[in-house]
Amino acid sequence: MNEQQQDNQQQTYQILLYYKFVQIPDPESFKNEHLQYCRELGVKGRILIASEGINGTVSGTVEQTEEYMRHMKNNPLFSDMVFKIDPAEGHAFHKIFVRHRKELVTFRVEDELDPNVISGKRLSPKDFYETLQKDDVIVLDGRTDYEYDLGHFRNAIRPEVESFREFPEWIRQNMSQFKDKTVLTYCTGGIRCEKLTGFMLKEGFQDVAQLDGGIVTYGKDPEVQGRLFDGKCYVFDERISVQINRTEEDIIVGKCHHCGEAADTYINCANDACHLQHICCAKCDEEHHGFCSTTCEEIVTAG
Ligand SMILES: [Zn+2]
Ligand SMILES: [Zn+2]
Repeated sequence: MNEQQQDNQQQTYQILLYYKFVQIPDPESFKNEHLQYCRELGVKGRILIASEGINGTVSGTVEQTEEYMRHMKNNPLFSDMVFKIDPAEGHAFHKIFVRHRKELVTFRVEDELDPNVISGKRLSPKDFYETLQKDDVIVLDGRTDYEYDLGHFRNAIRPEVESFREFPEWIRQNMSQFKDKTVLTYCTGGIRCEKLTGFMLKEGFQDVAQLDGGIVTYGKDPEVQGRLFDGKCYVFDERISVQINRTEEDIIVGKCHHCGEAADTYINCANDACHLQHICCAKCDEEHHGFCSTTCEEIVTAG
């Protein structure tokens, strides 16, 4: 295969990432129709549907994914939905899941948060990059601790949360001294920040702005090229992580769970009862046979 053919080969699939906050009148029947549609089309992935909107990531051939986007844009509810598109070598999921949920991102605050009513300012990658470099700006990672550990914006605050629903409590306890500052937030594709910044404004933060389109969009911007993002971006498909910083600044920030050396590969513990996702270097992967601990290895090898 020559280089041109290889390129064509690699471009035959695409991964789409998208969301939209919009009232969906009957989410349960929409879910059923949409699942049926996706099965017939042959795309795979995970799609959440709620009365507040849609959030999805799907993979398929270029033809399938283009058809999917065309189909969605024909629906007046989603005609202006933004799709982030990544070329891929194959499917990034094994199956298609379309689920009806109460919330698109589980946040569980007392009051409902509608990003169409209250949400922080949206900054383009270029504006975000410029604001990052100003003095006196607080940068808060809007994702969980294990996502932060693989890669994050330089000098961002690492929230000690294992799931998004822990954010409101964590912010109340750890961020109140920054209420008068400019606070920037970011997440993978932008959806979590829509809720997070709305919550912060309601809590009395004066100046909150979010990275529009998230880290994924930032990494594709031809001008900023992912600058000031250190390490890799965690993603919720089989790729597990993607490169963001396309300049010579690209570095590894993850640390191996076993030896502490720089590493940026997440693996799941080979003990099915544990399945802990941990960063592991190639050397330790071999040495520990994919287990997160000697205990896990002993349990499985003892049978
Ligand atoms: Zn190691
Ligand atoms: Zn384990």
